[in-house]
Amino acid sequence: MTSELEQLFEFLRFPSISTDSRHAGDVRACAEWLVGKSTALGLSAELYETPGHPVVIAKNKHQPGRRTVLIYGHYDVQPVDPLDLWTSRPFEPEIRDGKIWARGATDNKGQMFSHLLGAGKTIAEKGDLPVNLTFLFEGEEEIGSPNLAPFLKEHREMLACDVIAVSDTGMVAPGVPTMGYGLRGISCCEVIVHGPNKDLHSGLFGGAVANPATAVAQLVASLHDAEGKVLVEGFYDDVRPLEAWEREMWAKVPGVSDADFLEVTGSPATFGEAGYSAAEQTWARPTAEVNGIAGGYQGEGSKTVIPASAMAKFSFRLVPDQDPADIMKKVQAHFDKHRPAGVRIEVVPGHDGRPYHVDPQAEFGKAAQRALKTAFGKEPMLIREGGSIPIIQDLKDILGADTLLLGLALADAQIHSPNENFPVENFESGIRLNQALLEELSK
Ligand SMILES: [Zn+2]
Repeated sequence: MTSELEQLFEFLRFPSISTDSRHAGDVRACAEWLVGKSTALGLSAELYETPGHPVVIAKNKHQPGRRTVLIYGHYDVQPVDPLDLWTSRPFEPEIRDGKIWARGATDNKGQMFSHLLGAGKTIAEKGDLPVNLTFLFEGEEEIGSPNLAPFLKEHREMLACDVIAVSDTGMVAPGVPTMGYGLRGISCCEVIVHGPNKDLHSGLFGGAVANPATAVAQLVASLHDAEGKVLVEGFYDDVRPLEAWEREMWAKVPGVSDADFLEVTGSPATFGEAGYSAAEQTWARPTAEVNGIAGGYQGEGSKTVIPASAMAKFSFRLVPDQDPADIMKKVQAHFDKHRPAGVRIEVVPGHDGRPYHVDPQAEFGKAAQRALKTAFGKEPMLIREGGSIPIIQDLKDILGADTLLLGLALADAQIHSPNENFPVENFESGIRLNQALLEELSK
């Protein structure tokens, strides 16, 4: 195994699960390790406290007259359950079939670490980088980055930059370089339906009072028509229509045909609004999804009970130019309007983030396209991304710089799922990409 892989494995062994307070010590240990690693690679690095998990900043010596590039990544990871579905243990990385298997292998440790190693390699080869570089590594991305915007505001001067690069998005197929120029936003909420003041016997009371579990199902069902169009009033008002060149390019992107989506997901059929391909659905159309439903008896056998309450968790993926606060207002109005008789509902808004869009043919976008071509030997594909990285919009609003989304994640990387993986080849390409990118951005 190369020394680069060995270093990545060390990084992957930290169970830096940001959402689970039992792992707070592991998250911190991981941040401290990053400080040490960045320092060993020739950067000056420091750990910054936040009210949550720490931020790590690593820089070369900034000099006047050079471009300043900020590279963002996150060292926290998602929980690993269900553990029994993993082939190998999530925090004991292994290489099988040319891939690295571990939680965080793709999202985001493998990708961010290839940038760090790329910078270290350039420093080792040339003594310095061609640009002023600032690495910003956070430990709360998987919980919605609650402390990053305040951190950016507080350290605006230290983080000032001309352009930002992030590798935390998708690559359309193995070996095909990909630049993202758009991300969906998100708006989340939880709906709690309250009925009787305690669980009731379904024989003594059933039929005379509304069942909150039924009401939750009715609310969930009220969100879409049979084809998948979202029925929240005004939901599509601010959706920017797809441009002709986007539909043309996306039709040529390998690995994202409807058949590919079926293969990757294992779903029996594609679904959604008429007239859009699966790629168009995920990259340029908004959604309403129920992420979890709970209520009533879940144990063995039957228990004839009417639950006192039931709940569902929802997320709405948003596209330019939808606004999360506006959408949440419309969703609340929708749930109020569709509230089934005989229950009380409580809508608790969750985290949100605006959608992001940047012109891929502007100066820095072109430089990134050249770097991708150098690193992979092929013309890059220009895509949008279905996921949400709310922090990208914060970076734009607070630091005033655009972000280049240079994704190295493959569709079958199983991020957030059991058996997360990252091809060794992508890790190595990521190191080359960082070297080419800083060179191109220095011009
Ligand atoms: Zn993630």
